[in-house]
Amino acid sequence: MSIFNYFKVKVLKFGGTSVGSVESLLNVKQIVTSQSQPVIVVVSALGGVTNQLIEMTRLAQSGSNNYESILEQVAQRHRDVIAGVVPQPMQGQCNAIVEQFIANLRSFYGTLALNRELPAVDQQRLADAIVCHGEVMSSAIVSCMIEGAVPHFAPNFIKTRECDGSHALEADLTRQLIANEWPTVEGIHVVQGFIADDADEHFKTNLGRGGSDYTAALIAAALHAECLEIWTDVDGFYDKDPRKHADAQLLPAMTYAQAQELCDAGAKVIYPPTLRPVAELSIPVWVKNTFNLTAPGTCIH
Ligand code: ADP
Ligand code: ASP
Ligand code: MG
Repeated sequence: MSIFNYFKVKVLKFGGTSVGSVESLLNVKQIVTSQSQPVIVVVSALGGVTNQLIEMTRLAQSGSNNYESILEQVAQRHRDVIAGVVPQPMQGQCNAIVEQFIANLRSFYGTLALNRELPAVDQQRLADAIVCHGEVMSSAIVSCMIEGAVPHFAPNFIKTRECDGSHALEADLTRQLIANEWPTVEGIHVVQGFIADDADEHFKTNLGRGGSDYTAALIAAALHAECLEIWTDVDGFYDKDPRKHADAQLLPAMTYAQAQELCDAGAKVIYPPTLRPVAELSIPVWVKNTFNLTAPGTCIH
């Protein structure tokens, strides 16, 4: 497959706040369905859900059943969002998918709460399997919300290997598997950010907190996408955090090096490993606001 087949693909990544409510998801739908070219949509978990999954793990590991009420809140939030954004004919299917994942979570937490003597490695693998559920549930909702969207499962092609106790990306294998996953791209495709799979033993892993940006960049680079768009909750990349500094200045354009410097200094708007794979191929990165569709955003190039 020649790289020219991918020339018109765009990769759009939507963060937690962008997929976190009925209103924001309806904006996501509008953004995605108004594209005139093939798109791959990468989604985070509903905002706050990853933190809740981790908190429930902590509670279960300490033997407390208090995770149950948080799990019910998480379940209810997903049900409410499905009722608000998924077209009626797809709601039953979407609810069934999400209820199955909630049942999986209940069983994982029950295992942790009852088996506190489990070896540390098993506890860690259970915790990693649990934390994947945020993106698995949000991506199911986004796929069901958009008619004709094709769902994909990121662990089939985002691969990591254990390295000094953490999960390091297997870059060459991942690039090859992404190219195999999309020999051509037509229409709208939806995939989870953040989550991955161990290349050797096939347990679930992830790319680190905030890692959905990185998933999107890996897909954009492997497919030589036309551009990567990071849709978030601010108008673009600022010289400092606009939520903390009233005088922060929006930067309409930046070089990869300028953006990387701010990311390395803690600018949370882009996860630091994200820029390298796209910068190597000169793929432009746009930072745009899901809540302000007319704002031009920031172009990193
Ligand atoms: P998402 O859930 O969309 O991935 P994040 O919370 O990870 O969103 O990143 C967006 C947040 O990054 C903004 O709400 C903002 O508070 C913060 N931020 C920190 N530094 C910057 C910066 N220099 N420019 C823009 N946003 C920044
Ligand atoms: N949901 C994950 C997190 O909260 C990944 C992401 O949002 O990028 O860290
Ligand atoms: Mg983020």
